[in-house]
Amino acid sequence: MRIYGNNELLASTARMVAAGREPHSLILHGGKGLGKKAVAKYIAAQLMCEEGSGIPCGKCHSCMMIERGTHPDLIFAEPNEKGNYIVDDIRDDVVAAAPRTPSEGNIKVFVIPDLDLSVQTTVQVQNILLKLIEEPPDHTALILTARSRETFLSTIISRCVSLGVRPVTMQESGEYLQENYPDRDITEIHEALEAGKGNIGRCRAYMEKEQFYYSAGLARDIAAAYTEGSEYQFLKTLAGSDGKKAQLREALYLFSELIRDACVMLTGGQAEGCDTRAAEGLSRRLTLAAGADLYDTVSSYIRRIDANCSLSLVCNSLTAEIFGA
Ligand SMILES: [Zn+2]
Repeated sequence: MRIYGNNELLASTARMVAAGREPHSLILHGGKGLGKKAVAKYIAAQLMCEEGSGIPCGKCHSCMMIERGTHPDLIFAEPNEKGNYIVDDIRDDVVAAAPRTPSEGNIKVFVIPDLDLSVQTTVQVQNILLKLIEEPPDHTALILTARSRETFLSTIISRCVSLGVRPVTMQESGEYLQENYPDRDITEIHEALEAGKGNIGRCRAYMEKEQFYYSAGLARDIAAAYTEGSEYQFLKTLAGSDGKKAQLREALYLFSELIRDACVMLTGGQAEGCDTRAAEGLSRRLTLAAGADLYDTVSSYIRRIDANCSLSLVCNSLTAEIFGA
């Protein structure tokens, strides 16, 4: 079972397992695309591998079933199509199921991914999990994931082991791309690597031409129009999202990352966003103070999109605010 990066995190859970101090409640937090679910699956294998060394052997019955996604004692909770968990489902499928003996080995692992996306029910879900987290049966482990640790109630945080999932190195994401896309052109691989950097989810989405691929292109064009000081081009590029709300939101978010990168570069740091050259361009046009202002402005328009403001109004007002002042 190959996992890329996050060696320290996985070494710490391996030590707990090897010492017989398996954690029963874990929080994994980290940005979109960093591989929280893959890390959760790997930790489940650490807990469930029949060797019990803390490093999944990859050969035992348990490891093989986890790899194939067929282990009956590794349960991933599923939200509805809007990302919200149904409180009754969590009560029946997790809280009520936890005390029952595992079907195969000594432990069963429940994973509840992306709790931050369960906007409507995240607090209720955490409240009904509290008792299980306070008094977990010996044979149960629970792994919760979210983009930010702030998603969790303090009563949950204080009773869980919290671990941050981090970007991998460029070399590790390069290895991921070469192993998973052996037939692709090297130029394409380099492009995906540059766009996704240490975020393997983004690298993969770029290769698969998922939304991120188009949003990154849009963010690059928005940054170029800003750098050139072309109001017309800026508005035209924004309008190019063509009413696709999620894509415009993501493009503006990636643009805000480029602005942040530009500021980081002004102080001698390295870019982490989807286009280093675009960030360089921005850094030539911005001062630190102007960059901070622009970042705040763009972030406020992302919030307007979240609040269901009309997209054409967002495009027009943002352009006017940036170029009109
Ligand atoms: Zn094993």
